[in-house]
Amino acid sequence: MKLLEEKVLAEGKAINENILKVDGFINHQVDPELMKAIGEDFARHFKDAGITKVATIESSGIAPALTTAAALRIPLLILKKSPSKVLNDNMYQTVVTSYTKGNSYELTLAKHLISDEDHVLIIDDFLANGEAATGAVRLIRKAHATIAGIGILIEKSFQPGRSKLEEQGLNVYSQVRIGRLDAGVIELLAADE
Ligand code: 5GP
Repeated sequence: MKLLEEKVLAEGKAINENILKVDGFINHQVDPELMKAIGEDFARHFKDAGITKVATIESSGIAPALTTAAALRIPLLILKKSPSKVLNDNMYQTVVTSYTKGNSYELTLAKHLISDEDHVLIIDDFLANGEAATGAVRLIRKAHATIAGIGILIEKSFQPGRSKLEEQGLNVYSQVRIGRLDAGVIELLAADE
């Protein structure tokens, strides 16, 4: 997606060969016009996929997931992170271990908000090792709902997330794909269309 590619090149900050900071327009300060365009782009790409709900993991996916849900005119599910493993019969739960952040958390979704009739689009800001997206897929499948696809704003294509998801037969659409990062260097690959 050209607009997001331009923004990443102009305002993204490559800290080292692994981490890109985007806190000026995605996950600390948010650019609402950009989010609207991002949501419209996901809606265009997935318009014929029969999606009933959009889902994202709190918190940095919420802004683009909301504009996507608004463009598709369907509800947004926010998968909640909880630090402790408190078993709750009313919730679907799964543990996600983040190598990127070096922690684990319980991902939760209230059972009454999802059913086996749902066909869900998962949206997240970054795809790195794919743990967050894989956890979201696992959680949604506990409800016997199906996954329409995974929409990603920024994929770091030199990390294994995309192939991990595609190996499970999941359809991944990334608006920006990064081939290489280094301190002050961002190299893009051709994005998905
Ligand atoms: P994964 O589970 O695919 O390894 O990582 C996904 C999550 O880690 C994303 O939701 C995002 O919050 C965070 N993340 C991964 N890589 C980066 C990065 O380069 N920059 C930022 N700001 N967040 C990242």
